[in-house]
Amino acid sequence: MSDNCLFCKIARGEIPAKKVYEDDEFIAFHDINPAAPLHLLVVPKHHITSLLDVQPEDEQWLGRMMTLAPKLAQENGCTPGYEGGFRTVVNTGKEGGQEIAHLHLHILGGPRPWNKRAAPAA
Ligand code: 5GP
Ligand code: ZN
Repeated sequence: MSDNCLFCKIARGEIPAKKVYEDDEFIAFHDINPAAPLHLLVVPKHHITSLLDVQPEDEQWLGRMMTLAPKLAQENGCTPGYEGGFRTVVNTGKEGGQEIAHLHLHILGGPRPWNKRAAPAA
């Protein structure tokens, strides 16, 4: 855990968030500035800055993060089935549009219009 990291503080319960899921490895909550009708963030509880830092031994929890996405999207109201669906985004590094330096998965969904091409934080 990193003392001054916003998402570590949310994971520790020191800063409130609209939590939708928590287990030993992950916390998921609503983005404070949603870019779509449904905008969740899935955050590993341990501090890792970005995808640039992942190693082969991280494959298991990274895989779990991806398998959590459809479960959380569907549980939180994204339109079911292929006619619905959702978008997943992992911004990596400054040029990748990452603002919070703790790796996280964006889940964006809900009825259009919302801008598929826009960066989630824009
Ligand atoms: P990034 O640009 O790093 O991929 O995404 C960071 C996201 O975190 C942004 O979409 C932003 O709206 C969201 N965010 C920033 N601060 C907070 C906060 O204090 N609480 C919550 N729930 N989301 C936040
Ligand atoms: Zn952190």
